Amino acid sequence: MNEKKRPDTVFDVVIIGGGPGGYTAGLYAARGGQKALVIEGASTVSQITVTDWIENYPGMPEGASGFDMVDKFKKQAVQFGLQVVQADCTAVEPREWNGMKGWAVISGGKSFEALALIVATGAHWRKLSVPGEELFTGRGVSYCATCDGPFYRNKEVMVVGGGDTAVQEALFLTHFCSKVTIVHRRDRLRAAAILQQRAFGNEKIAFAWNAVVEEVTGEEAVTGVHLRDVKDPTKTWNMPASGVFVFIGLIPNSELVAGHVTLADDKAIVVDRDMRTSAPGIFACGDCTHKLLRQVVTACGDGATAAFAAQLYVEELKGNAY
Ligand code: NAP
Repeated sequence: MNEKKRPDTVFDVVIIGGGPGGYTAGLYAARGGQKALVIEGASTVSQITVTDWIENYPGMPEGASGFDMVDKFKKQAVQFGLQVVQADCTAVEPREWNGMKGWAVISGGKSFEALALIVATGAHWRKLSVPGEELFTGRGVSYCATCDGPFYRNKEVMVVGGGDTAVQEALFLTHFCSKVTIVHRRDRLRAAAILQQRAFGNEKIAFAWNAVVEEVTGEEAVTGVHLRDVKDPTKTWNMPASGVFVFIGLIPNSELVAGHVTLADDKAIVVDRDMRTSAPGIFACGDCTHKLLRQVVTACGDGATAAFAAQLYVEELKGNAY
């Protein structure tokens, strides 16, 4: 063993993000004997924790809530020695100790340092960017059916979007709402066939096809939206609704490392098949990366690969090449 020296406070690997990708990376790193830390966001609200139900994760025929699933991922990783802190990270900076290069993750006055980083920061919801959206956020405009659905018991709401999220959340909202109208900019859904079948078969769900929201209207709270027909733009109309749930896709959370790694046009972090970014020592996994399928199962697979690739990188840096 010819390990080079670095301060004791420096981790082998710091993982930014406490979702499925981050905790799988943490599990593999800690179980692989690495000194590993996961930095969870200080807020407990993340995309996975507000996902009502996950039924396509293999080996769990009964399904699970997103919150329970990620809680189990965390417990399993911590059992193997993974350390966890809650902090909102504001910057990533290069570091060097006795000729060994690494990275620091800055949060407030604190700095978490490591030989390798795994970025598992997920993605956030895209906004409509129309008048009234920001004004009525929290007063009728929502990006989380699990959080806000129960406030709309016996009320009519709309869901904007045609992907898996929009349709799954619309189905969830039917447990509370008297009617859910899915407003979609095309005449067919993007969502998986099984979700489409359920939506078409649900008598509480209606559709407004080829329609885009131009404005969210209201007084104290949302009372409706102003829609425009995409095929005949001269046609506009008002649709009353007590709630507007927006699910029109994801924007990868890549700002932290934007100055260090290559990003794709959609702001996703570009990785190779072993989850290496363009910066030596920075790896990435899950929804923040440039990929075709953003699912729990793919984030977990990415996380395992990222941890293994990071371990090879770290051991080589320490002079312990396998
Ligand atoms: P998505 O697949 O990107 O779908 C976004 C939807 O919003 C599309 O229907 C799109 O219309 C529409 N849209 C985009 N920009 C718009 C705008 N400015 N105005 C109006 N409509 C707009 O996003 P997602 O549904 O959030 O899913 C994200 C990822 O998570 C996907 O990989 C998905 O498979 C995954 N996911 C999976 C599950 C599951 O497996 N159960 C559940 C949730 C999410 P077009 O169709 O015309 O492009």
